[in-house]
Amino acid sequence: MANFSGGKIKDNYLRTLERIAEAAYGAGRKPEDVKLVVVTKTHPIEVVEAVAEAGGKYLGENYAEEAALKIESLSSQYSVQWHMIGHVQSRKASLVCDYFDYLHSLDCLKLAVRLDRLAAERSRVLPVLLELNLGGEESKFGWPLWKEEQWQSILSDIVQVLDLLHLQVKGLMGMAPFFDDAEKARPYYKRLRLFQEFLQSHLPQVTWSELSMGMSADFEVAVQEGATWVRIGQSILGPRKSS
Ligand SMILES: *Cc1c(COP(=O)(O)O)cnc(C)c1O
Repeated sequence: MANFSGGKIKDNYLRTLERIAEAAYGAGRKPEDVKLVVVTKTHPIEVVEAVAEAGGKYLGENYAEEAALKIESLSSQYSVQWHMIGHVQSRKASLVCDYFDYLHSLDCLKLAVRLDRLAAERSRVLPVLLELNLGGEESKFGWPLWKEEQWQSILSDIVQVLDLLHLQVKGLMGMAPFFDDAEKARPYYKRLRLFQEFLQSHLPQVTWSELSMGMSADFEVAVQEGATWVRIGQSILGPRKSS
């Protein structure tokens, strides 16, 4: 039998919603303005079902092929949205268009152009967030945000993304470096929030309302700094085997 308990997943899920609500209230925000993506990457379909059973509405995956198999096998009795949160390789872009409801990790203009064409072929519009690299880590993707001199040149790429009619830009996504102390993530999330304000003033034709930031290690800090999406795996599902 699979090594998990649906009851435990439900308890963890509800407890996480409470922690999000407490962080939101503490920051003078409304809990309903923060949505929870439960990250099920590497977990089997039984775990996905347990999350859906517990009430999870948004499921996050990093690998398009792994996700496609789960999406195919999840019973249609559950109405969940699938969110792609990992780096999309060019050759996996069509899977993303076929299977996902939302993309958090649009990380370059070239991928945007490709996804726009694929979405057009499928007569659909894909909601996307632009991923920014907050800390300059080599292991992370996205437009570089760590120096303000770079902001103006990022703008010219973004203007081109906004011309793509089959992508609907909803906001921004970013990951802080991993710290044992969540407080250390705060300046990175503050910077993403500042960049959101910068875009709102330079490109007001878009509502830059969504901010996807915060994971198990630091989501309360992210909520205090304005996250509207948090992406949480381990706090709800326990440690992953392969990571
Ligand atoms: C795996 C992953 C998460 C979830 O991380 P946890 O530490 O399990 O909460 C969130 N965002 C991205 C982009 C991820 O790859």
